Amino acid sequence: MKAINIQRRRLMTSLALSALAAAPGASWAQTAAKALAPARGARIVVVGAGVGGATAAKYLKLFNKNLDVTLIDRNPNFIRHYGSSELITGAVTMEDLTVSYDALSDRYGVRVVRDTIVGLDADRRTVIGEKGRYAYDKLIVSPGIELLYEGIPGYSAELAATKIPSGWIAGPQTQLLADQLKAMPQGGTFCLVAPPNPYRCPPGPYERAALVTEWCAKHNPTAKIIVTDPKNNFVTDETMLLGWNRLYGFSIPADYKARLDKYASPARPDCRLEWVQEKQGGRPLAIDASAMTVTTEAGVIKADVINVIPPMRAANVALAMGLADKTGFCPIDRRTFESTIIPDVYVLGDASIADAMPKSGFSANTQAKTTARAIVEELAGREITEPVWSNTCYARARTTASSSPTSSASWTERSAAPTRAPATSTSRPSLPSRPLPPSTCTAG
Ligand SMILES: Cc1cc2nc3c(=O)[nH]c(=O)nc-3n(C[C@H](O)[C@H](O)[C@H](O)COP(=O)(O)OP(=O)(O)OC[C@H]3O[C@@H](n4cnc5c(N)ncnc54)[C@H](O)[C@@H]3O)c2cc1C
Repeated sequence: MKAINIQRRRLMTSLALSALAAAPGASWAQTAAKALAPARGARIVVVGAGVGGATAAKYLKLFNKNLDVTLIDRNPNFIRHYGSSELITGAVTMEDLTVSYDALSDRYGVRVVRDTIVGLDADRRTVIGEKGRYAYDKLIVSPGIELLYEGIPGYSAELAATKIPSGWIAGPQTQLLADQLKAMPQGGTFCLVAPPNPYRCPPGPYERAALVTEWCAKHNPTAKIIVTDPKNNFVTDETMLLGWNRLYGFSIPADYKARLDKYASPARPDCRLEWVQEKQGGRPLAIDASAMTVTTEAGVIKADVINVIPPMRAANVALAMGLADKTGFCPIDRRTFESTIIPDVYVLGDASIADAMPKSGFSANTQAKTTARAIVEELAGREITEPVWSNTCYARARTTASSSPTSSASWTERSAAPTRAPATSTSRPSLPSRPLPPSTCTAG
């Protein structure tokens, strides 16, 4: 691939709808479908019915309704991760986050199967599930991430499920965290342990911290929110830090002052939000669940609620299939997302190594459409066209009545070019009219 053109965008409910039900972009798909010759009966199996997998299955059928598309997931429906921090602050319910697969089967003719996939027999082109085996001509794998709970001493999957939730895969842990926040004593401490790169949703931990701070301002005004971080910066950091500053009185960190001070408001002494960067000793060293402490290089943080976002890698099934390399993620050909390890297998979304593309739903959605098209073209014996990638991110610094993002950034980047274009800003309706600086972002 010669160049990647990327824009980052925060993706809300519309993504679920575009992937799983309605079809914004359908007119594009219909036009493309007309240009593609049919490849009758080819069997495409898709493992993982999250953002990447569900989108790929839908677009395969839109491009060629004669394809035999089987979409397999271990869960009966999809609980969307994007927007799930809003469940913690009560702005949405679990029902709001839950997306059914019905439209995929009823409207698009995708065969939806519930099974847990455990392996692959690449020689026989067969996917191995706990309940059955699935033969394919082409296989798409979009299984998301595995959270490495044991990556922080003292932390574990059991603790995450019972006492110190992560919630970075949306579901029961997200609800547990919401319940813990509500039950936190007045003046308590909420500690968010941010993850190392690379991780799913680069601006997400900081958005979560902002939303919790906003919630506490109303319900627990003397509570303290501490983000302890093994990094010194993050995607959308400049706009997010300014959002924190203007909304919560956050003090701009020393290394951002030269760039941001002219846009910032004076820090407020009653600011309850603190960000401990790696250089200040923010790297987490251990969790003690009985003492409810996080030990960092800077010292020990005693907290009432601890939210750990641990290191992560591609989901276990990607490793079981032999698709990952030593990084723990899956190398792919960026033109088609075909695995560079096993032919005729395509890896999408957070599990893939997509260079500058962040691990976002927007990326997974774009990759899925491009891969679906590449597969249909190849089956039809046509040349595969050069894709153009795009992604844009919004990260909320607060929940607004109008649902407007208060911190946003988008960027373009050419992977082959050494320079990165400054971001163009999008809407920031709730911030004062002073201009914000252009943001540059790096993919997590
Ligand atoms: C708090 C939070 C906020 C976010 N906000 C945004 C946002 O605003 N915008 C944005 O673009 N992105 C956002 N993201 C990121 C986005 O949700 C992910 O990047 C996206 O879901 C990745 O898609 P995927 O297909 O790779 O994985 P997923 O969507 O996680 O799908 C993986 C699927 O594979 C299934 N699966 C896994 N293993 C197996 C197996 N062995 N057998 C069968 N099925 C299996 C899972 O059940 C799941 O359904 C956010 C993430 C979080 C955590």
